[in-house]
Amino acid sequence: MAKIGINLKEGKIADKKEVIIGIDLGTTNSLVAYIKDGNAVAVKDKTGKNTLVPSIVHFASPTEVIVGDQAKERLISDPQNTIYSVKRLMGKSHQDVANFEQYFGYTILDEDTESLVKIRVGDRYYTPIELSANILTELKTRIEQSLGETVSKAVITVPAYFNDAQRQATRDAGKLAGLDVLRIVNEPTAASLAYGIGLDENADQTIAVYDLGGGTFDISILHIQNGIFEVLSTNGDTFLGGDDFDRAIVDFWLKQNNLNTKEVMQDKALSQALRLGAEEAKQKLSTQEEFKTEIQGIKGELTRADFNVLIQPLVDKTITACRLALKDAKLTTKDIDHIVMVGGSTRVPLVKTEVAQFFEKAIHDELNPDEVVALGAAIQADVLAGNQRDILLLDITPLSLGIETVGGLMDVIIARNAKVPSKVGRQYTTSVDGQVNLKIAVFQGERDMVTDNRKLGEFILKGIPPMPAGIPKIEIQFILNADGILKVKAKELRSGVEQEIDIKAQYGISEEEMAKMLIDSIQNAKGDMEKRALLEARNEANNIILSGEKFIVHNAKILSDEETKTTKALLEALRQTVAGEDKDAINKAMEELNAYTGPLAHRAMDVNIAAAMKGKKI
Ligand code: AMP
Repeated sequence: MAKIGINLKEGKIADKKEVIIGIDLGTTNSLVAYIKDGNAVAVKDKTGKNTLVPSIVHFASPTEVIVGDQAKERLISDPQNTIYSVKRLMGKSHQDVANFEQYFGYTILDEDTESLVKIRVGDRYYTPIELSANILTELKTRIEQSLGETVSKAVITVPAYFNDAQRQATRDAGKLAGLDVLRIVNEPTAASLAYGIGLDENADQTIAVYDLGGGTFDISILHIQNGIFEVLSTNGDTFLGGDDFDRAIVDFWLKQNNLNTKEVMQDKALSQALRLGAEEAKQKLSTQEEFKTEIQGIKGELTRADFNVLIQPLVDKTITACRLALKDAKLTTKDIDHIVMVGGSTRVPLVKTEVAQFFEKAIHDELNPDEVVALGAAIQADVLAGNQRDILLLDITPLSLGIETVGGLMDVIIARNAKVPSKVGRQYTTSVDGQVNLKIAVFQGERDMVTDNRKLGEFILKGIPPMPAGIPKIEIQFILNADGILKVKAKELRSGVEQEIDIKAQYGISEEEMAKMLIDSIQNAKGDMEKRALLEARNEANNIILSGEKFIVHNAKILSDEETKTTKALLEALRQTVAGEDKDAINKAMEELNAYTGPLAHRAMDVNIAAAMKGKKI
């Protein structure tokens, strides 16, 4: 039954609510969905057949941009002006993509290694954000034409492992396409929602989302409780998918025909024809047992049994990743309540049976695996529109977030795997007398020294009233919102001086790099610990030297010449050890100084208190 909204204030029938759209912005294909009569549906093209829009942008001229199927047709004939796989470049720097640059058929600008990548088309340069905005504009136009009304609000999905910079870039692309992005949602969360998992308020379930597309594989383990989605772990391979199945088939056919792969592949037109033939064979074998074709005189025959043998090692790789994801989440297959299949390659029967066998459970494959993420995004959009019970989305940070403290140490404020949204505050102080500015440098990573981690940004808290070192109370707050975007606030509590910034990382981080950072932190743990201990000892010693010097000046009258001389000598000895590399020597010198000055400090305190009491009128 349709509901009619009444605006009580104005006594009128309320305006029709604007639809909020759900968008799956994919590496290979993108699509848009919305809720129609209570059901999520993906929007089709003019022919009424396809819901997928290839994520490909072709520049016919600087002012004529073509997106989707028509752009795909130009991929071979005009590769320099046809951009694909732009999602792989979102929020990344040249350094990040240097290893797989040769993989792209177009030109990536390589001047400034530290800044975000740009793509050269003719004599113009485009950022991945602009190119993604072109794809989003195409999707927006498609749904506007289908509905006959304008839309301006959207939910866009991203992989669960996307970091701050990549999420921010996706949000910016939406903005550029004229969309108000209400929420960035994790793809596995959206896929679960499409199956209605998590919509029940009392649900307490663990879900494995297996996503095998054309070029990428992701496994995510989610937990849903009280309508809250939490990503427990992710794993996968950014270069494993259906394209590899196609390649295996081409190799098999060439071998059967006694042809040399390298030679044949040099003929671009022939290699492309073979690749398309192999893809057709693969897709047909999802529903039939045998396939036969002939491509420019080359016989291509394949049975499903042979195909299974060819792809078994690739499927095994995905199962290994599932095992690792479960291990990271500290779970076993028995703990998994649902298995959701996403991505075109999950139509392959061997993939279905191997996944079901591994998890020892039936899989969810009733919905179109190409559409599930967009359908779930539409459901999330509907939730945000207030049409369904509110569901929260919870995420985890893949790497720790913290700031640099004295000596270049990393002080973790939000730890790796902490739940998001998250808000953590911690108090700091100054290390120099009369310090009026404090630099706050924000880093991401697991190592003890900030130089080994990745800098996200920095800012300066200015105008701290001059006070002795250690007196200002500076509260630093890290606020990580539901999209995984970080805001950092700094406030000097005594004076109320404050400053805040949104951390927009200058460039992103690849999954490989993220894995490397974690491995590095484990391998270097011992060395890091020693370095940290030395630095901490040095910091403590410097503080003691500072207060020791103040103590001598303030208590000149109380101390004998001998006492002053010995204290100075012990301070000097400590200073010498600080210049060295031996943390035990520093600690020993500190102990000696403390042992000697302890009784002096007591005496000084007694004298000072007595003096204060004398002056006090009762
Ligand atoms: P996606 O990136 O999720 O759009 O998945 C695209 C991949 O799914 C491509 O490698 C397609 O060849 C593959 N695919 C699509 N339909 C089928 C099918 N019926 N059987 C096997 N693979 C398929």
